[in-house]
Amino acid sequence: MRVSTARKIVALPKQGADYLPLEPFAASLPRPAQTQRQQPRPLAKLPTSVVLRSLAVNYAMSSPLLNSVSMAVLRRAVHPTNALFDTAKNPLLRFLLRAFAYDQFCAGMSPGMVQRRISGLKDMGYRGVILCYGKETVIKGGAASTQDKIKSLMYGPQETLMVEQWKDGLLKTLSCLGAGDFLAIKVTGAGPMALDALKAGESMPAPLQAAMDEVCALASSQGVRCWLDAEQAMLQGTIDEWAIALMRKHNKHGVAVMSNTIQAYLKAAPANVKRHVELASEEGWTLGIKLVRGAYIDTDPRHLIHDTAQDTHNCFDEIARGLISCDIPEGGQATFPTTQLFMATHNAESVRKALTLQRERVEAGQPCALLEFGQLQGMADDVSCELLEECGHNSGPNAPGVYKYLTWGTLTECLGYLYRRSLENKGMAARAGELAGAMGNELWQRVKTLKF
Ligand SMILES: Cc1cc2nc3c(=O)[nH]c(=O)nc-3n(C[C@H](O)[C@H](O)[C@H](O)COP(=O)(O)OP(=O)(O)OC[C@H]3O[C@@H](n4cnc5c(N)ncnc54)[C@H](O)[C@@H]3O)c2cc1C
Repeated sequence: MRVSTARKIVALPKQGADYLPLEPFAASLPRPAQTQRQQPRPLAKLPTSVVLRSLAVNYAMSSPLLNSVSMAVLRRAVHPTNALFDTAKNPLLRFLLRAFAYDQFCAGMSPGMVQRRISGLKDMGYRGVILCYGKETVIKGGAASTQDKIKSLMYGPQETLMVEQWKDGLLKTLSCLGAGDFLAIKVTGAGPMALDALKAGESMPAPLQAAMDEVCALASSQGVRCWLDAEQAMLQGTIDEWAIALMRKHNKHGVAVMSNTIQAYLKAAPANVKRHVELASEEGWTLGIKLVRGAYIDTDPRHLIHDTAQDTHNCFDEIARGLISCDIPEGGQATFPTTQLFMATHNAESVRKALTLQRERVEAGQPCALLEFGQLQGMADDVSCELLEECGHNSGPNAPGVYKYLTWGTLTECLGYLYRRSLENKGMAARAGELAGAMGNELWQRVKTLKF
């Protein structure tokens, strides 16, 4: 069905830290004739087991007390100092973390389990997944010391082996993926060689560069795209440089084999995006941007981050607008680079604005970046399912793809990721409560109609 550009766009509530219901977004978009007559139930796509677990997990996350307890348990489990918090020694802890955290937020422990999870998601209508290997390195300390800088020049077989193991993890992850999927790469996972070079602002060490080139070449041959995750601010400047070097090398023929992540909560984000656009345009490579708000607000220096959540929302939406409409710097430049924009967000208002703008531009025949959306596994299923509905109705070549971000690995390997999820969910009690309510309604509909 064609979408009318003359449709009325409903006024939305002001963005804020609180949960924004997706209903106004859904209401603003046209629907096929038969769905206009009935109440849409996007969550009907979810298996009942997922609805039940999501209801339990989001209900727990909406309680500040339960949230604090689970955060404290996860923090201790990441670096256990006694058997009580050691998942290898405490079977009850292992069972609880698996049932209420791992199964909700992670993809599986083996490639076979992961592939089953991925095909389930594709059957639901997702264009693909973004897969990440859960093993991570936790960084302690501040900026690089002279010792770090010297260290970065003299590594032994141990550090080189860590890079090899990290690369093997990426290749194993790639083996679970097919054409259209994404591989998410956390460069700090490569160990001290990566960390010291990042802290010292050096170019990518040779073993790391060789590993990345191998991964990019294999990904490209499989039709998989990659992105570098954004990390703490003290490393991010160098991650940007590494990502640009990789895009320059691998993003040819209109495909962003590599993308960089831009954190819109940073005051410097708009200038950073402009620099990316200008470099891609001058040097003739395809620009891949994954746009996020930013996950390190509790640890990054506060002065680098926008003063208010509303400033972050405005910055995120303005960068998205500029990239979608090829209008950076504002007023436009003659040759805007081919751009692929991945909006990684759970914010319904940002999703609605981007989708509306993209549709209007496509219909008007105006230039437009390739647009894709993604949410984390176990979170924002209401936003994802609405997007599946809306994007599913538009099957043209410009229809935005919808993706889920999955982390895989053993329970122990994924504990750091799960702890970060719990930290991030700390300020989202209201949103978790809304989602628990939506899951409860969905469950009630199934009970009433006896359809499970
Ligand atoms: C698929 C996917 C991939 C991701 N990858 C990364 C990644 O590589 N690196 C990374 O850092 N994050 C990543 N994130 C997390 C992301 O940065 C956000 O933390 C998270 O998605 C919540 O933001 P939101 O856009 O969903 O919107 P909302 O939940 O509406 O916004 C919350 C965000 O607003 C910002 N904010 C909140 N309060 C304030 C305040 N007082 N002042 C300024 N800003 C404030 C923070 O960034 C906070 O996370 C990813 C998220 C997704 C969905």
